[in-house]
Amino acid sequence: MSNIKDKIIAINNGLPMGARLVAVSKYNPASAIQEAYEAGQRIFGESHVQELVEKQQVLPSDIKWHFIGHLQTNKVKYIAPFISLIHAVDSMKLLNEINRQGEKCGRIIPCLLQLHVAQEETKYGFTFEECQEVLSGNEWKGLTHISLHGLMCMASNTDNQNQVRAEFKKVHQFFQEMQQAIGEEAPDFKQLSMGMSGDFPIALEEGSTLIRVGSLIFGERIYS
Ligand SMILES: *Cc1c(COP(=O)(O)O)cnc(C)c1O
Repeated sequence: MSNIKDKIIAINNGLPMGARLVAVSKYNPASAIQEAYEAGQRIFGESHVQELVEKQQVLPSDIKWHFIGHLQTNKVKYIAPFISLIHAVDSMKLLNEINRQGEKCGRIIPCLLQLHVAQEETKYGFTFEECQEVLSGNEWKGLTHISLHGLMCMASNTDNQNQVRAEFKKVHQFFQEMQQAIGEEAPDFKQLSMGMSGDFPIALEEGSTLIRVGSLIFGERIYS
């Protein structure tokens, strides 16, 4: 068995109930995705629109493509017809554009709101306060072609596991609070996307339902 297949099977077998693996295939060729697919993997994450569109056209149609990177509003239209989940919605402007494109192609597009929790300044996302404001407001309720499925975050890029765990814990607690607060108005608000190659075991312990794992499966990327 190939290395990619072994990794896919091992990670999936180790997942707790209710958690799923997003195999992050960015910068990897379609052939690598095909190998993972043959091991049973169906959810793949990409973070560049053009690369995703090219792969989507040549790979099996039952793949569920997740967009995990920063998405520019002017590129939403290219992925709206087929995307299964957009992980990193970081502004109302983007959410409105996803809704507009969803309407155009007759779809309701599942979205996660991205929280900014890491210490690095370059990372995108809402602060807890901003996210709470969005969710307690009415604007999203009028968007009939998006569906809020939960939250996403990236922990700080640090070797300090205590800090990473504390960040995931805080996000999980906030996630549960928001779930309570919006309740029946967002029945699909159930997903918490957190954890990557370096920290997904901690994320799973802290309540992640979607781990986004790339380099551990496909090997180290040259660019990223
Ligand atoms: C690239 C990427 C990942 C995967 O990172 P690895 O460390 O290779 O597992 C996860 N999430 C996002 C948002 C990414 O851009």
